[in-house]
Amino acid sequence: MSLHFQNQNSPADSPPADLQPAWSKRLADFATKLVRTSHWTWTDLLVIVGALGVATIFRFLFDPLLGYRTAHATYVIAVLIIAWARGLWPALLTGLIGSLLAAYLFLYPRYTLGLKNLDDQVTMALNFVVEAVATLLIVALRNAVRENAELYQRARLADIRKDEFLAMISHELRNPLVPIQNAVYILSQTYASDESSRTVRDLLERQVSNLIRLVDDLLDVSRITRGKIDLRKCPVELATIIDGAVESVYPAATEKKQTLSVNVPQRSIVLNADPLRLTQVFSNLLNNAVKYTKVGGNIWLSTEQQDNRITVRVRDDGIGIAAGSLDKIFELFEQAGDELTLRQGGLGIGLTIVDKLVELHDGTVEAHSPGLGLGSEFVVSLPVATSGLRLESSPVPHNKQTLSEDRSRRILVVDDNVASANSMALLLKYMKQTVHTSYNAFSALEAARSFRPDIVLADIGLPQMNGFEFARQLRLMPEFESTLLVAVTGYGQSGVAEAAKAAGFDRYLVKPVNPHELEQLIASAV
Ligand code: ADP
Repeated sequence: MSLHFQNQNSPADSPPADLQPAWSKRLADFATKLVRTSHWTWTDLLVIVGALGVATIFRFLFDPLLGYRTAHATYVIAVLIIAWARGLWPALLTGLIGSLLAAYLFLYPRYTLGLKNLDDQVTMALNFVVEAVATLLIVALRNAVRENAELYQRARLADIRKDEFLAMISHELRNPLVPIQNAVYILSQTYASDESSRTVRDLLERQVSNLIRLVDDLLDVSRITRGKIDLRKCPVELATIIDGAVESVYPAATEKKQTLSVNVPQRSIVLNADPLRLTQVFSNLLNNAVKYTKVGGNIWLSTEQQDNRITVRVRDDGIGIAAGSLDKIFELFEQAGDELTLRQGGLGIGLTIVDKLVELHDGTVEAHSPGLGLGSEFVVSLPVATSGLRLESSPVPHNKQTLSEDRSRRILVVDDNVASANSMALLLKYMKQTVHTSYNAFSALEAARSFRPDIVLADIGLPQMNGFEFARQLRLMPEFESTLLVAVTGYGQSGVAEAAKAAGFDRYLVKPVNPHELEQLIASAV
């Protein structure tokens, strides 16, 4: 509570001097002056009076026990509480008044402030000094605690903003990636007669997939740090996971002429894991090994089972990691820091994702390196599934379907991002599909009636009527009961997939949709 006071005393506010006893007038003047000349508030004064009153009552209650001794006892406690709650000056004032009250009420002879006894005078002075020192210490402690709390609050806020920013930026980056990926796919399918166009095309393809990987990592890390990642665990063979990871880094390792030696046991080792997320762990580690190992270098992946745990080692003879950086590299945005590392690109989030995903699988990951230039080793330890778990026939979808030439599907593309929508239409036309494009949900609903699509690819973040509402409206029309409705969105957040399903979507894809995945989807539509 803070009060504002006028500079001048209004005569009407105070009772005539002769009606007030002199001491109470002086006290009132002192209180008003105190409040006016400092940052004090009336609450401070009320709290002081209250604390002194309570201290006096308790001292009277304990009087039969304490008698002449420790006259100040309860006042000291009041001073310490006021120091913590109201600060230095209110505490000192409490100490001063408390000492006077203690002397007046509880020192012998009682009800006099004579203090004739030297012992009493020394006791009172010492008591006041001790209270002042204790007050200073408590106020310093209180300030430090408040400062810490404020800093913690600010850091927490900055952390929340960072997570929101990461989620937003990864979403925003997805939209421009859609047309680029689609165009690159079309280029990659067309015949290139000369060597230089083939080189440019391959370069574009590699860089776009690097960019998509970075955006995926950004989104993943923002979801992981906010605890918004759901694992879809099922019994899965370790070999399947390793195969998937090796396959994903094979082109990059071949380009750098590196030797990749993989040693996985012949017998089946089953883990209870999310196949996609665990593949991501090993492909991140292998990808780093490729990135931080020179042209012509070596990378080894080996496994070893001990009782009910499996250890997977990813080793390389690359640039190595300095001892001082080893324990930090799993932290967000942490890069081992030398110029060579930074020249390899990256954001310093891959290992954070690895660490968190392994942890979510009840495993551990460690980094080892004998030093700079001497290679690195990452060791992942995971629990093996209990024998009761049965392996499902194919945890990672393998049933590749191809587009048949004879039947072209009618596909309605709905996206307010014109470049995204147009490039998707171009890609689908290139896949020999019949396409109609709408840039908002209203025109899409109208177009659907005449175009009669077999498949609808709809963005979620549409203006005015969003994708969920659009799907609900479409499903209300009997002719679209069995149409394949696919939500396509830049938000790879948990919860959106469930909301999309509830709105009537059959599938949910994250932008930019992989063209091969799109082919599969079209082929699966009846
Ligand atoms: P990024 O590779 O994008 O920088 P990561 O989180 O994947 O981010 O890795 C963090 C840091 O750990 C890297 O910047 C690099 O300094 C170091 N690092 C990771 N893997 C290796 C490796 N195999 N060899 C040497 N250094 C590595």
